[in-house]
Amino acid sequence: MSMEDLYQEIILDHYRKPHNRAPSLEDEDVHVHHSNPLCGDEMDLRLRVVDDRVDAVVFDGEGCSISQASASAMSDVVTGRDLKDALDLAEDFRKMMHGDEPARADDLGDGIAFQGVAKFPVRVKCALLGWMAVRDAIESYEQGASAHTVTHEE
Ligand code: ZN
Repeated sequence: MSMEDLYQEIILDHYRKPHNRAPSLEDEDVHVHHSNPLCGDEMDLRLRVVDDRVDAVVFDGEGCSISQASASAMSDVVTGRDLKDALDLAEDFRKMMHGDEPARADDLGDGIAFQGVAKFPVRVKCALLGWMAVRDAIESYEQGASAHTVTHEE
């Protein structure tokens, strides 16, 4: 099995059996809604913070397989991390989707499977949706905001 096939398998697996997909989260601190009109992806993301750590993150929404699978992978990566670390990884993922080698490949977990998506510019926003939503949620939390809607335009 080639690396590409393996990554494809990981992405499909997250799409078919998403992790941390839920319409609500007990004691949520922040709820953000992000959309990618280019593809029609919609995402609600809820974050709960305890002691400056991502205690829980859940997402819900609809959209293409890349957007949903990437959010699932993201949720595994950031859960349990302190906020600064989670932001750092979201930034590393963002850079990877713009063609850079990830600085923290080992910490990106299944997120690394999306590296090949960087070759398809129209899908980059799909892969980024969940990661940019969690970044926004953490930044909103740090600024004391509890809800937020963002539309990712060109
Ligand atoms: Zn999409």
